[in-house]
Amino acid sequence: MYICIEGIDGAGKTTQCKLLKDWLDKNGYKVELIREPTQSPIGKLIRKILNEPNLPTAEQQKVLGLLFAADRLLLRDKIQKAKDEGIIIVSDRCFYSSIAYQEPEDWIKEINKFAIKPDIVIILDIKPENAQERFEGLERFEKKSFLERVRKKYLRIAEENECFIVDANRGINIIQDDIRKIIAPYLGICR
Ligand code: C5P
Ligand code: MG
Repeated sequence: MYICIEGIDGAGKTTQCKLLKDWLDKNGYKVELIREPTQSPIGKLIRKILNEPNLPTAEQQKVLGLLFAADRLLLRDKIQKAKDEGIIIVSDRCFYSSIAYQEPEDWIKEINKFAIKPDIVIILDIKPENAQERFEGLERFEKKSFLERVRKKYLRIAEENECFIVDANRGINIIQDDIRKIIAPYLGICR
């Protein structure tokens, strides 16, 4: 099974993925955590580009989209193998991040058509002002309005696809509890 946790920067995806893994481990499942961008050379290049202070041009955005799609493609075999072996993959982001963050949308969908679709997608919905991460690089205001746009895209993605939305403007444990409630019926485990 391939589970993905999505949401804007600072929504708490990494923390929730780890807590979810702990719970699944405890229930006897084999679990692997993955994240995007990955630790591959392409993933590292993406992080380097994202740290550059200047806002990317439209062409640079497209190149970034290609890099994300390529980085994601490197995960394909690993995810497929895990699914075949009954290992649960818990992923911090998937191709929905690219739809939410990169543009233009049609093109992003086209270059991501080889990405494996998660079995369960949970979007952690949070107001940018409540997001925990420090807003590095960009001006606070600029980043906030950018994340507001990304948040709206996630909400649209949830309307157009089978995704669960969890209110992430709350405490870590309450959020985790909601996530477990969503996952449990798919696994047939008691909480
Ligand atoms: O999830 P994490 O915070 O590690 O993501 C690293 C950075 O990559 C974030 O600043 C996020 O905004 C950015 N990102 C992006 N496009 C994606 C995925 C992540 O711009 N498709
Ligand atoms: Mg994170």
